[in-house]
Amino acid sequence: MTPEAATIPPHFIQQLIDSDLRAGRLGTGGVVTRFPPEPNGYLHIGHAKSIYLNFGMAAEFGGLCRLRFDDTNPLKEETEYVASIESDVCWMLGQPLSEPPRFTSSYFPQIYDYAEQLILNGKAYICDLSNEEIRATRGTLTEPGQESPYRNRDITENLQLFRRMRAGEFADGSRVLRARIDMAAGNINMRDPILYRIRRATHHQTGDTWCIYPTYDFSHCLADAIEGVSHSLCTLEFEDHRPLYDWILDQLGIGNPRPHQTEFSRLSIEYTVLSKRRLNLLVASGRVSGWDDPRMPTIAGLRRRGYTPEALRSFCRHIGISRADNHVEMGLLEHCIRDDLDHRAARVMAVLRPLKVVIENWPNQQVEWLTAPCHPQDPSMGSRQLPMTSEIWIEQDDFRPQAAKDFKRLILGGEVRLRNSYIIRCQEAVTNPVSGAITELRCTYDPKTLGTNPTDRKVRGVIHWVSAQYGRTAEIRLYDRLLTTPGADADGDDAFLALLNPDSLSVLSDCWVEPSLVDATPEQRFQFERVGFFCVDSRDSTPDHLVFNRTVALRDSWTKKDSG
Ligand code: ATP
Ligand code: MG
Repeated sequence: MTPEAATIPPHFIQQLIDSDLRAGRLGTGGVVTRFPPEPNGYLHIGHAKSIYLNFGMAAEFGGLCRLRFDDTNPLKEETEYVASIESDVCWMLGQPLSEPPRFTSSYFPQIYDYAEQLILNGKAYICDLSNEEIRATRGTLTEPGQESPYRNRDITENLQLFRRMRAGEFADGSRVLRARIDMAAGNINMRDPILYRIRRATHHQTGDTWCIYPTYDFSHCLADAIEGVSHSLCTLEFEDHRPLYDWILDQLGIGNPRPHQTEFSRLSIEYTVLSKRRLNLLVASGRVSGWDDPRMPTIAGLRRRGYTPEALRSFCRHIGISRADNHVEMGLLEHCIRDDLDHRAARVMAVLRPLKVVIENWPNQQVEWLTAPCHPQDPSMGSRQLPMTSEIWIEQDDFRPQAAKDFKRLILGGEVRLRNSYIIRCQEAVTNPVSGAITELRCTYDPKTLGTNPTDRKVRGVIHWVSAQYGRTAEIRLYDRLLTTPGADADGDDAFLALLNPDSLSVLSDCWVEPSLVDATPEQRFQFERVGFFCVDSRDSTPDHLVFNRTVALRDSWTKKDSG
């Protein structure tokens, strides 16, 4: 944890771990946590919360946190996801894992043995009901379920059938192993839940070794116990599964010391969606360019967008940990990245929507190399050279033929300072005779004004610019919110897709950037002065075709949009 974290009062999980340690409840292993993603998609910012919590608690209390792939469902999982998850976790933590990742699938032999033990103890049975029949006899919140006709099979038969299930003698879905608990339990998860199902599918780790697979509920507590996890931290939707977690460990008498599950609330963020299933739908339907599309709230997407690991960690610190609703504004995430980039991103100039300015009294062909600081407050970041020439680009928005006093930019007959350069005066706006659009400005510069104190001379404002002769063309991608509504609640995939913001991406293809950017490397981050924070796109940018992603605008545009 950083020193900053020390100023935030401890949350309930910190308090719990602290009291467990003080009471000597943890045995010799100390604090052991795990981050257990299912490798069925890329990690999103909700996972970042869980990563920060699990690895953070282990670090804070001198313990150990492991990455464990919860890979019990061979149908939806892929090795691409395994690789991306490990790389995203390390990137976010800013360090390699202290141990190689674990896989629940590597415990399949032990989990199978535990299942046999439950059968031998009379605590599990083979049920021949179909999935639909099991569902239909489960009961409701107000009515108890019905006992399966197979519930009282004798132990030997159960054991034989289970072994034959494993040997592949039965069709998929024809039989399952169920815990024998209580069909009248108030908690539906305790009504003889399924522990194992038959599923002929090649598993990314175990290949075709198994044709039966344990359920999440059965395998999770066992993997925790096998790994000596002390605190099994998960999100609130697992709260109702906790009695089953405890029941399984109690029946088997394993886990010494016993792992305990503690729940906290899931993160959700306005105007985006944190569900791998829905994010997968966006990728599969081609609505985004991939899991790392900069509009995606995935760790890979945020990284490509220009987010730093430090900003993600700062965000996780800000949102805290509790059991209360954790629906936060996008503005908070943006505040964290703006805050981080403000002190580390070098300043450069880029013109997004160019308007040509010809400086009539500038000696033709002459170039003057001006020195500009890379960061106004941090001299250690050095300086860069800016070529000033007779033709430059400015933003279309920075000129109006005439305007009221509060327009702090260029008008006809008015003066502005070019950032890091001279003061210019606009003499004439050349227009296209047909469309009436302004095509070029004719200006003069005052050679006495380089580096003079901006207060010496009253000008309307300071604007950024790029030399037309020396600048580089660039493609700049601007991103807006992914969804048009703050919440992503939608019944069904089509309704969800209808919530997508059609303007979430705008591509500006004839932008100009200062020449120093030609050496920019993938993911390098900058502040385009007066415009925002940008980074070099890691996939599409080349020295011949520079592509930048807008990470975040300089000011919070969300609040403005909401009120206007
Ligand atoms: P999704 O619904 O997006 O598929 P999940 O919960 O199924 O998410 P897992 O791969 O099972 O994803 O999650 C790994 C860990 O991350 C779990 O402990 C889970 O509780 C946690 N996690 C997932 N989503 C969030 C979230 N939005 N906020 C906090 N923790 C989360
Ligand atoms: Mg899941």
